Amino acid sequence: MYCELHNHLYGSLTAERLYTIGKRNPNPRWNLFTDSYEKAYGRIIDPSKFFEEYDTLEKFSKLYYFNHRGPFPEFQAKFNLIIALVPFTIEEMKNLAEQIVLDHSRENVSHTEYRIMFPPNEERDIFEKRIQAICYGLIEGEALALKEGLNIRSEAILSLHRNQNTLENYSWLKELMVKDSLVNDRLTGIDFCHIEEGFPPKEKEDFFNRVLSDNKQSPNSALAIVYHVAESYEDKTPFSASRWVWESVRNGAHRLGHCIALGLDPNYFANSIRKESIKERVDQLKWELRFHEEILKFGEYYSKQEIEKKLKECHHSPISNQNIEFHFDELTIQYLRTLQDYILNYIKESNSIIESCPSSNFYIGMIHNSTEHPLKRFVENKVKVTIGSDDPGIFDTNLRKEYSKAKEMGLSEEEIETIRTKSFLYTSSLLSGRSKSS
Ligand SMILES: [Zn+2]
Repeated sequence: MYCELHNHLYGSLTAERLYTIGKRNPNPRWNLFTDSYEKAYGRIIDPSKFFEEYDTLEKFSKLYYFNHRGPFPEFQAKFNLIIALVPFTIEEMKNLAEQIVLDHSRENVSHTEYRIMFPPNEERDIFEKRIQAICYGLIEGEALALKEGLNIRSEAILSLHRNQNTLENYSWLKELMVKDSLVNDRLTGIDFCHIEEGFPPKEKEDFFNRVLSDNKQSPNSALAIVYHVAESYEDKTPFSASRWVWESVRNGAHRLGHCIALGLDPNYFANSIRKESIKERVDQLKWELRFHEEILKFGEYYSKQEIEKKLKECHHSPISNQNIEFHFDELTIQYLRTLQDYILNYIKESNSIIESCPSSNFYIGMIHNSTEHPLKRFVENKVKVTIGSDDPGIFDTNLRKEYSKAKEMGLSEEEIETIRTKSFLYTSSLLSGRSKSS
């Protein structure tokens, strides 16, 4: 039996199901897909001839699957095909939740948590109805599974927008949980996903504190905080991206999505040039000074004098959002390893869990070979970790396949088995303090 803790409900749509839904939809919101697809892939798609051009499931699947290495916007363009083709009516959402739970129960998954996300300016009434539809759908799905003799527990996690209506949507959710006991039972966490760049975790400190204090006050409706971080970090160095993971843990995130920059073998960056804003650089340098002694316990690192000198140079620069270049020579690579090891140890000592998603990281993280995959490093550093399938529909995968990818990375049967069994201790309800392990 498997426990799935990093999965997006709509990203679980199989090509076949999406194709059927899309063909039935009289008014697909084409521009949501075609614009982002053209931007990411440089190809114009003509909506008026879409189902003529993609007249077989095979052709459609090829367009839908994201199973190549490419940056986040290329993945998002594929996800936008879902957003364009699915009508998102209340009935359809309920049906979909039902079907996906049944699919997962047939794949030997016995506990699953689905992330759901709505448009940022959703009206309250629709927001509530959609959450209810999904929660009720989960319950129906469990009933269907039970008819086949399969036991599955399914829950939902609401993905909030990093920069819009965060607190308002959280408050709506909490009030809905008071009004509707089924939603209270099924909605067990909140998440932050989508574009990370431009949204440092430090800005979420107050919000996290609010959630954690609400959890303490009413444990029966406590929500786990799960947080995608260091998955996509085009705008900064892996040094800063790793620090973002540290900040998320310090803020109190219960589970961390991906953390690719933190676990990647530093040689991955050999001879590359990364850029980041002076503002980001200043944050990083100040942090390095603050924890300098601690970092040094994990290997060689820049001296205090070097960091102070760089900080001075940044302060002399007049434009704070100007980018500066960062060259990855041998020494830089060595220092990155030291920094990663310090933060990996910090996480190991904390209560936070990393959700590692093999296929997703290979493709969106653009990892070239199995030995470089962060999951291996997390395990070597004894960080608490779970394996997730992320968007199995788009990646054309399932949780069992994701576990077998861990084997290809060189993890032993025993290590993989430990991840599988321990994952049941990392559910949102247990981490948030809502329930206790038996
Ligand atoms: Zn995800």
